[in-house]
Amino acid sequence: MSRLIIVSNRVTPAKSSKSGGEGGLAVAVKAAMQERGGVWFGWSGRVFDHEPGPPDIFDVGRVTYALVDLSQRDHDEYYNGYANSTLWPLFHYRLDLTEFTRRNLAGYQRVNHLFASKLAPLLQPEDQVWVHDYHLIPMAEQLRAIGCQLRMGFFLHIPWPALEILLALPNHRSIVRALCAYDLIGFQTTRDLRAFWEYIELEAGGDVHDDGTINAYGRVLRTAAFPIGIDTDTVAAYAAEAETSRQNRRLTESLQGRKMVIGVDRLDYSKGLVARMEAVDHLFKTNPDLRGRVTTLQIAPPSRADVPEYIEIRQQLETIVGHVNGAYAEFDWMPIRYLNKGFTRRTLAGFYRLSHVGLVTPLRDGMNLVAKEYVAAQKPEDPGVLVLSRFAGAAEELTGALIVNPYDVENVADAMRGALIMPLAERHERWQAMFEWLQRYDVAAWQRSFTAALETVPIKSAA
Ligand code: UDP
Repeated sequence: MSRLIIVSNRVTPAKSSKSGGEGGLAVAVKAAMQERGGVWFGWSGRVFDHEPGPPDIFDVGRVTYALVDLSQRDHDEYYNGYANSTLWPLFHYRLDLTEFTRRNLAGYQRVNHLFASKLAPLLQPEDQVWVHDYHLIPMAEQLRAIGCQLRMGFFLHIPWPALEILLALPNHRSIVRALCAYDLIGFQTTRDLRAFWEYIELEAGGDVHDDGTINAYGRVLRTAAFPIGIDTDTVAAYAAEAETSRQNRRLTESLQGRKMVIGVDRLDYSKGLVARMEAVDHLFKTNPDLRGRVTTLQIAPPSRADVPEYIEIRQQLETIVGHVNGAYAEFDWMPIRYLNKGFTRRTLAGFYRLSHVGLVTPLRDGMNLVAKEYVAAQKPEDPGVLVLSRFAGAAEELTGALIVNPYDVENVADAMRGALIMPLAERHERWQAMFEWLQRYDVAAWQRSFTAALETVPIKSAA
């Protein structure tokens, strides 16, 4: 088997990030790397005033880490700039929040070139290169420009936007052309895949074949959906172990027999947190019988706090939480417990198990691993109910959830009520099918199916 080289913006060595708050990509790639071994290349997370030196290389278990620092300017223009103020909002359908400057685009290209030039000397002739996510779309193009002919795959963890949205990106052509330098492009869902095909056919003048092979920009490459999984058995084991943990005991005592609804999201505008709190407001407004009997626990660790839109979403969320608590709280009960901090996945698994409802209502999300982890953590003999946005990639797979439109506050409130009163037999039936699916299509299966596809993709240039 050839050596696997994973490239992602952020790299989290196995022993780090105990405090929680790392995103879905880090969690998934870490699990995949632990199974297969290989080299994991990317940004160290450190920012310096000077230009970066050679990568810091070290081994942990079966994984060799190669980490590059960023200069402050690169961090501002590439990471906070083009990646998180242009691509992230646009790919999540937030044209109103999308900023575009040529300066940030140049920073994005510069860092991709920097990464390619630092990675190239580490590569060996039989290696497979697997690049992750929107930060690094031009990596293959940059590597090819300096002579690299290896098989290269790309997986997009976030949504691929509909054609009309993508056309608003001033450099959409250069982005799609760069993507076509890979040999395999993986998307989270068939919806994303179709949106990409539509661009190729209608805008790039390329061809899309039934098996997902495309001809575009003088290249032939494969495209497919590879919905990302979770480490299902680990999450289930964490949740079972947590039943006797001190934290779970404290949480149970504090609930005093009330039912709990849980939400866990990075504090990001794509997660639909404000609309979700409006739904909680509507639930208590229209169901006075639930007041004092249901507690919502919203965990929202801060994220990208130096991008202005994230400061704003935090203020909006805190305003609405204050409003709902002000409207309904009693001296011995609060409708919403809002925590602006992260927890470990082990702790979260325990909290999911205690929750009667998992509330996952992003306005747009590539997959949403929290939805899958919530299901994996349930008690088989008494599972909770997942309320899930139709705009999360996970909704294509988790059909046993109550699927909602997160923009429709009354719809979400109704689903919450339905989940809270759902009989055990129905809860069980819905949960069982989802859990079996998650066991079958876990993160190891995802890693295997992507790398197997990359290993067999025919490499040839278009005639
Ligand atoms: N997570 C965590 N601690 C927290 C909040 C989230 O470890 O306090 C983890 C969560 O368990 C999941 C990931 O971060 O594995 C979030 O992935 P998801 O796809 O739901 O969202 P993203 O943050 O990638 O947009």
